[in-house]
Amino acid sequence: MDYLSKNIFEIHKALVNKEVTPLDLVKEALEKIKKDTNNAFEYVYEKEAIKLATELSNQEVEVDNPLWGIPFAIKDNFSTKDIPTTASSRLLEGYLPPFDAEVYTRLLNKKAIPIAKTTLDELAMGGTGSSGHLGKTYNPWDESKTRMVGGSSCGSAVACAAGIVPYAIGSDTGDSVRKPASYSALVGFKPTWGKISRFGLFTFSASLDHVSYFTKNVKESALLLNVLGGHDDKDTTSSSLPMEDYVAAIKENKEPYTFAVIKEIYDDLKDETIKKAFDSLIEELKQKGHKINTVSITLPIAEAIYPAYYIISSAEATSSNANLDGIKFGTYKDADTYEEMLFKVRTEGFSDRIRRRFVIGSISLLEENQEEIYLRALRCRRMIVETLNKVLESNDAIILPASPTIAPLFGDDTPKKSFNKDADISDNYLAFANLGGYPSITLPLGFESKMPFGVNITSHHFTESKLFNIAQVVEDITGLKDLTKK
Ligand code: GLN
Repeated sequence: MDYLSKNIFEIHKALVNKEVTPLDLVKEALEKIKKDTNNAFEYVYEKEAIKLATELSNQEVEVDNPLWGIPFAIKDNFSTKDIPTTASSRLLEGYLPPFDAEVYTRLLNKKAIPIAKTTLDELAMGGTGSSGHLGKTYNPWDESKTRMVGGSSCGSAVACAAGIVPYAIGSDTGDSVRKPASYSALVGFKPTWGKISRFGLFTFSASLDHVSYFTKNVKESALLLNVLGGHDDKDTTSSSLPMEDYVAAIKENKEPYTFAVIKEIYDDLKDETIKKAFDSLIEELKQKGHKINTVSITLPIAEAIYPAYYIISSAEATSSNANLDGIKFGTYKDADTYEEMLFKVRTEGFSDRIRRRFVIGSISLLEENQEEIYLRALRCRRMIVETLNKVLESNDAIILPASPTIAPLFGDDTPKKSFNKDADISDNYLAFANLGGYPSITLPLGFESKMPFGVNITSHHFTESKLFNIAQVVEDITGLKDLTKK
């Protein structure tokens, strides 16, 4: 029987009804992992999961705890004590973290069962799911294995989309959960910056990083925020604002909402199928009494999103990854000086793409360039965020297609040579929610050539319960939920 393609609530019900045990679920997951050909896993908890599931199978099911006894997967850039953790980088091969990430601890406390650490673009930098040390991760929806599932949280997207686990944890610094969710018919959610502790998440870019996750429907997404959200003393950037019950907050009768469609991003769309699906969603929202405003943020602001994101994230990444030097982390290489060793370790340890980011980050941080590049990017960020704050003060949410295309073919993914007018506004705008720290969710919207594409909704800071209500309105309209590729 296939239980793991079901949603969390259905699996929980089957556990409560004693149709299935945690051990059955773990065996099913391990079997599916063995058969999977999408290259999504860094480490599989074979022995550990069986041991934990056997213990749980002899205990009473916790009826009020929907995560109890259910396997999950987690991106390999979260620290997991004594479990190999590489962030899909050659440099970290063999690294065993001495502690657990907070989100992982919270899941373990709920007696959720970790089943696998998943692949990512190296150090979470990238959007193709092809730059990690294990090579390409494939999209389960594409049998020809020519299309990416997207990144950087590629393996977690696969684990959920292929029905190996009902939910999987990722991280989102620019769009790394919300974009692959669009390519794989999943719900991808990132909360307000500070809402979920990042303790134990490898820092890519501290001011932009968010713990995020994939589920198959909106209610599951709300459930995970109940478990993962809330203050953590170990993360000084985590918010102390009170938590809500986000599942209970999803109301039956929803008020009419006001949506903003950003003109410059919408106008950049070229794919007719995606445009049509989005336009008909907008029509249905209007018919249901919701209000749609087309809002201009001006072209210069829209065009500045990706360059500002790229400079700030590369600069922060250069600084936060300076500890990968062969002494603190990584394999020591024999050399006469520290500089020589650093050069050897980092040249051999990192792929070209990572080195490119660190070069860009270093150039923008050099004293003579700071004013022109780094500080300018910070000022752009401020202008972008002020503009978006205004949009979100007069609208409940921004709604737009999550990606301008279905999952691209591998090979269409060479890094851009320059940030010019062809900066693909609609392909890179999702980073605006990281620049501003807004909660943001991607949901399935439709299919083209049997490949999925999604819609994204972003709301103001700490309005997660409203965002889930809005997302539920959209999910009810599209009817697209609980989708897995079998
Ligand atoms: N694709 C984006 C980048 O390469 C986002 C990465 C992320 O969110 N981790 O920077």
